Amino acid sequence: APAENPKIVIDAHGLPYLDSRLPVRKRVADLLGRMSLAEKAGQMTQAERGAVSDQNDIAAYDLGSLLSGGGSTPTPNTPAAWAKMIDGFQLRARATRFQIPLIYGVDAVHGHNNLTGATVLPHNIGIGATRDPQLAQRTGAVTAAEVRATGIPWDFAPCLCVSRDERWGRSYESFGEDPALVKSMETVIQGLQGRADGRDLARADKVLATAKHFVADGGTAYGSSTTGTYTVDQGVSTLTRQQLEAVHLAPYQEAVDRGVGTVMPSYSSLDVIGDGRGPVKMHARADMLSGVLKGRMGFDGFVISDWNAVDQLPGDYATQVRTSVNAGVDMMMVPYTYKEFSAALTAEVKAGRVSERRIDDAVSRILTQKFRLGLFEHPYADTSGAAAIGSPAHRAVAREAVAKSQVLLKNDGGLLPLRKSQKVYVAGSNADDIGNQSGGWTITWQGSSGDITKGTTILAGIREAGGKVTYSKDASAPTAGNDVGVVVVGETPYAEGVGDVGNGHELTLSAADRAAVDKVCGAMKCVVLTVSGRPLLVGDRLGKIDALVASWLPGTEGGGVADVLYGKRPFTGQLPVTWPRGEAQLPINVGDSTYDPQYPYGWGLTTKAAARSGALTTLGKAAATAERRHDDRRGRELVNQARLIVQHKVGQRITAAVSKPFAEADHALLTGRYGQALLKLLQAYRAAR
Ligand code: BGC
Repeated sequence: APAENPKIVIDAHGLPYLDSRLPVRKRVADLLGRMSLAEKAGQMTQAERGAVSDQNDIAAYDLGSLLSGGGSTPTPNTPAAWAKMIDGFQLRARATRFQIPLIYGVDAVHGHNNLTGATVLPHNIGIGATRDPQLAQRTGAVTAAEVRATGIPWDFAPCLCVSRDERWGRSYESFGEDPALVKSMETVIQGLQGRADGRDLARADKVLATAKHFVADGGTAYGSSTTGTYTVDQGVSTLTRQQLEAVHLAPYQEAVDRGVGTVMPSYSSLDVIGDGRGPVKMHARADMLSGVLKGRMGFDGFVISDWNAVDQLPGDYATQVRTSVNAGVDMMMVPYTYKEFSAALTAEVKAGRVSERRIDDAVSRILTQKFRLGLFEHPYADTSGAAAIGSPAHRAVAREAVAKSQVLLKNDGGLLPLRKSQKVYVAGSNADDIGNQSGGWTITWQGSSGDITKGTTILAGIREAGGKVTYSKDASAPTAGNDVGVVVVGETPYAEGVGDVGNGHELTLSAADRAAVDKVCGAMKCVVLTVSGRPLLVGDRLGKIDALVASWLPGTEGGGVADVLYGKRPFTGQLPVTWPRGEAQLPINVGDSTYDPQYPYGWGLTTKAAARSGALTTLGKAAATAERRHDDRRGRELVNQARLIVQHKVGQRITAAVSKPFAEADHALLTGRYGQALLKLLQAYRAAR
């Protein structure tokens, strides 16, 4: 805690809300009963820390929260500087009548990505590829420990978007296209927050999580544009009631059941077919925020708006504020307009257009989480866990996640794993670029290319693995005398917007990467690795590529890529989204009536020692038994065994008749229907004959 004594207005000692032995409910009620309308409005206000030029504003406006948002001012680059900065703000917040601590939030969406030297994990799309809920939970725990150790108790993650059209610029933030897959990865919430009842939130290594962006942010239509150009990431999701429920809402019920503390609405609009309302912005939808989320689903945390989202609603400012608060937004992320917001909200309440009941509900929800986080008892940073930031133990978790996220799409002639004795020629834009392999939300909001933080590039990982390497980014060095080419192609970083379309490549390779692939794959056997937040299409070059690996956005631990390339670990990743033959097929998802992709959802070859043999029918009987006995472990094992047999049989001759049942098998597996999964795989096997 800071040495300097805060300017305490009254000594609140002895008041019931400060008594940590009382149940949170009672403390909230006691505090709420003492607060003025202005103080309540302040609790509902979140400002960007860089916008608070006069720090006296924190107390003057009773600000409930501050953030370092995406589009924020540069963030501190040491753990101590973070802690000091936040303690300084907290000191101001505590200089108020009731000494209500503020809650600080950041986007730590793949590790503590705002801090140089922290462990940067794969983006969600890669985590989805691991199909490993237990690992997802451990990645959440790494993030939480690193974030809280710098004094930050709140993380705007995870994104629960179900990505249905990979032209969407934020597809990489999705665990995948299947709601069952997204649900299975929500163990990350336990990693971040601890137990579902909130009992662990006060720990020095846990943070409050945010499920975002509610709802159907991944369901916006991007293929429908008549001009064929990509638009921003905040479109309209036009859905039937059934699609809304089964695909996009389902992951939120899971998050509520897991005790997620906050939910952020989506910038996008929702248009429910047949309800006669047309597209309505999520921040204005009382039916969804209050009706479905807080009502039917039983969400008892608080709703935090997205950045400036209130400004996107129709009407004048008072109308925007009223609409959003009445719809159910509890705290408003108004980075630069905190003064205007609290004034407008107060005026709306005085005019009777926002009820005091609504305000009390919002403030109770916010205070509940602050009490659970232990902020009243320990308002200042507990940096005792700071040594774990970027530690070998944390990097090992990230490395494991990287290795398990690698999806082997093609492996002709068993080119992979590589042998140390082979001379490899490494090329491509993303072979040696920590910034590119980390993607957006890394050090800066949109991320950037180059040496932006500490880590191991894919090239460095290959060298560490003992590979005999010639490296030439643009493949200009002579290719003679090498055994295998490794071309690491991919995207340049982006967080929000349209992806790296501005750089001239949409879901296809850049001109430089095309040239590198042509040169290297024309000269020797080659492996191509796509470092990207979504499928990156190589087009008719596929025939010239011997092995193809989807590497996603691995983050700082490129050693994990080398681990699978050199067989230190087997390839076990599976596609979290369908890999289309071309952009014209988008959107394409498991469950579509016509489905004929390049690689189906769930595809992923392995270099593991041959799967235990067993005829599919025998495996099917065993799977049905496992299903009856609710033996998930055995069920998954059997389905995976069968999947490998089918993949082997299919090879690269992937037709619609194979893809459809194959992809559906993975969906069945994720929903615990192992017998059904086996039937589907049998169907795929027969179609491959
Ligand atoms: C993004 C959110 C993010 C927020 C704060 C917004 O632009 O949509 O995902 O949490 O900024 O940085």
